[in-house]
Amino acid sequence: MPNLDASAVQIRAAIRALPAYVPGARAQGAVKLSSNENPFPPSPAVVAAIAAAAGGVNRYPDMAARELVEELAQRLGVEPAQIVAGNGSVAVLAHVLAAVCESGTPSDVVMPWRSFEAYPITVEIAGGRCVQVPLTADHRHDIHALAAAVRPSTKALLVCSPNNPTGSLVTRAELEWLLSNVPSSVLVILDEAYLEFARAGSGGGVASGAGSSEAQAVVADVPGGRSEGAAGGTSAHDVHDGISLIERYPNLVVLRTFSKAYALAGARVGYAVASSEVAAAIRATATPFGVNSLAVAAACAALAEEERMRAQVTELVAERERVAAALARAGWSVAESRANFVWLSAAEQDTAVVLERCRAGNVLVRPFPEGVRISIGTRAENDALLAALGQR
Ligand SMILES: *Cc1c(COP(=O)(O)O)cnc(C)c1O
Repeated sequence: MPNLDASAVQIRAAIRALPAYVPGARAQGAVKLSSNENPFPPSPAVVAAIAAAAGGVNRYPDMAARELVEELAQRLGVEPAQIVAGNGSVAVLAHVLAAVCESGTPSDVVMPWRSFEAYPITVEIAGGRCVQVPLTADHRHDIHALAAAVRPSTKALLVCSPNNPTGSLVTRAELEWLLSNVPSSVLVILDEAYLEFARAGSGGGVASGAGSSEAQAVVADVPGGRSEGAAGGTSAHDVHDGISLIERYPNLVVLRTFSKAYALAGARVGYAVASSEVAAAIRATATPFGVNSLAVAAACAALAEEERMRAQVTELVAERERVAAALARAGWSVAESRANFVWLSAAEQDTAVVLERCRAGNVLVRPFPEGVRISIGTRAENDALLAALGQR
């Protein structure tokens, strides 16, 4: 008689204790603003590239997704040896953490909180220990507290900018301050999943923020509306480009993804850029053939249509500003967002009311204990949201 008691299996305690990753809600016919996806479907060229690659799936893809890595290296002005592609940037993050967390010794990973919910799960799986540093009252990274949380046991420090779910940007000056105040033995992991949306506009203005603010950002969600805050908020000049800082800070690794601006969430492609030494360590931990051949074809085709991506991002940023302004006019308090979503903080409104109205309007949003995150969709989808939230 076989032993049917699976509970005897020695699963790691850290894994048994893991919270489940909660994906954004989905439902037939509902307006899905719960997963920060790009609402625009892939272009005909991307679909054709995937279809063309489909005929070759009996073969393994290139081990290191060389075609994609070389194209990225050229565009980003780095060596191919500095790039590691993976099955979405969350998988790449897991590889990064596997390279620095040491079994048997405390491996602290400092992170802002609330931030991306995959962070604590990925850290626990890697055998690391989460050290969560609360955001400031205006939903931003507390860079001084993050630096102060570093101990001799700290292996890595996570920065999410723009931050999921609050949309706040860590300014370039803040990032550089952090990098110069964290020991070079600590790997700083900068997640730039929403970077394209931060570049495209700035709290109501576009590109040339005309010296509206210095590096020190100001709160956007002042009581009584966001226009005043937007004028004093972060500007397009404040946006970091982590990759340009790697030469000066070899302990920096930058994560990017094709899931958001490039509209390829279902294809699963992301990558890390680091010094070639750090990149080699990440590559050593990565799944062999981690990026499938359809995803490589899709990502290369999407890169070839950069202009299309920029135009969509511009449209989504304009929609973000329209939604934020309309919500503020209706009396809701909206945090300044530099991403493809907006944040309604529970500290400033009753999230149960927000959720109930969205449910009644058949609009799916993403609730957190600290507030509600609402992704920006097409104009029609955003209109459905605004109809649901109407007056406060
Ligand atoms: C969506 C998102 C990603 C992208 O994850 P993929 O695995 O590339 O789809 C990474 N970081 C953050 C903070 C995100 O919100």
